Amino acid sequence: MTPTLRVPIELPNAKPLSPTDPDSLFAMAVESVNQACEVVNAPGYVRAILSQPKNELIVHFPVRRDDGSYEIFKGYRIQHNNVLGPYKGGIRYHPEVSLDDVKALALWMTMKCALMRLPFGGAKGGVKVNARELSSNELMRLTRRFTSAMGNHIGPDHDIPAPDVGTNAQIMDWMMDTYINTHTDGAHQGMVHVVTGKSVGCGGSEGREKATGQGICYVLSELLPELNLRMDTLRYSLLGFGNVGAFAAQALGAEGGKLIAVMDHAAALVNADGLPTGELQQHVVNNGSIAGFKSAGTREVPAEEFYRTSTDVFIPAALERMIDEEKAHWLDCKVLVEGGNGPTTPAGAEVLRQRGIAVLPAILCNAGGVTVSYLEWVQNKMGVHWDLQRVDRELQRTIVLAARRVRLASHRHDTDLSTAAFGVAVEHLADSYLRRGIFP
Ligand code: GLU
Repeated sequence: MTPTLRVPIELPNAKPLSPTDPDSLFAMAVESVNQACEVVNAPGYVRAILSQPKNELIVHFPVRRDDGSYEIFKGYRIQHNNVLGPYKGGIRYHPEVSLDDVKALALWMTMKCALMRLPFGGAKGGVKVNARELSSNELMRLTRRFTSAMGNHIGPDHDIPAPDVGTNAQIMDWMMDTYINTHTDGAHQGMVHVVTGKSVGCGGSEGREKATGQGICYVLSELLPELNLRMDTLRYSLLGFGNVGAFAAQALGAEGGKLIAVMDHAAALVNADGLPTGELQQHVVNNGSIAGFKSAGTREVPAEEFYRTSTDVFIPAALERMIDEEKAHWLDCKVLVEGGNGPTTPAGAEVLRQRGIAVLPAILCNAGGVTVSYLEWVQNKMGVHWDLQRVDRELQRTIVLAARRVRLASHRHDTDLSTAAFGVAVEHLADSYLRRGIFP
């Protein structure tokens, strides 16, 4: 008798698999894709494929602490889709890292790379750890052990990690070094492109560190006029002043924008005349947060006052799900620019829609990071090093073209910019599936 093969989805007319948990970030991400599939009329099987990651890797590994004891850590690498190219996406170190969140973030990477027309798929990884509690040596041992635990699941033409929340160029340098030492005789450098976001000294690209913040500025220059706002008189708030927020402030300041309010994990500040962003960035480097920062006209305020401060643009550039229903009611802005991934809850997004606050989606706004990651990967493969002007020019061209595609799609399908952005990404992915067909 022939054994029966049970498969979770039937192609090609499968019903999408959607998780039903209302708090699931992955369910929220799948829902955005489903809505976009509806709008662009994507085939059912494309929708079904995108509603689950291709591979989910979970590892547990021991790390020796400085006091000689050992601790077990949990790490993830989720490979969502690779129809457009190798899996690509950051590695997060955070105590709240969970499977559901990493799945959502991996799906968003697929969408982001497709929207940018990068030859990459989507992935995301993370370790459940409070990196602030580890010494530099412990962090290095954790990074090296996690990299070796991922083994052949990552690779320069297979799956390419990068920085995300809680990780940086130093961690990427250790990852690259560990991979090379465990996959070659360690004697040659031909695999540095296994990781992007490295330090410039280790093969990183000029402009990678500021790329996400810089990209936000390019997107706003392209899309704000349509929303009746000007860059040179822009008043904006930032939720989060880390890599994304601080560099966005630098780029927007160069165009004449004024940072009116800012909040991080420790404090909230407002200044109606605009905060001095360079000094604030230096204060954070010295003190670890914006708390205690003093300048003429700057006041520390309670969180609610921060959210209620009137600005043109509000930029959440921190963790997911920070703008819930209540906060969405508090906001006093014309446009919400998603600097971080998935900053609004579904209920929060609904309030913003009802209140007529336009949302510029993260898969467009924060795609500057992965775009310069791609440029780093290309430079590594070619064995060249481009100057900052060239990198910035390529970033600007790539992200502005994507912003135009989103604007056109929103007119063509008569839909909001978020749905349009997901729609553009889905159309590109669907086109690839249609041409390639489904193996076998
Ligand atoms: N972690 C960043 C993101 O969420 C960058 C990913 C990358 O450069 O691969 O887009």
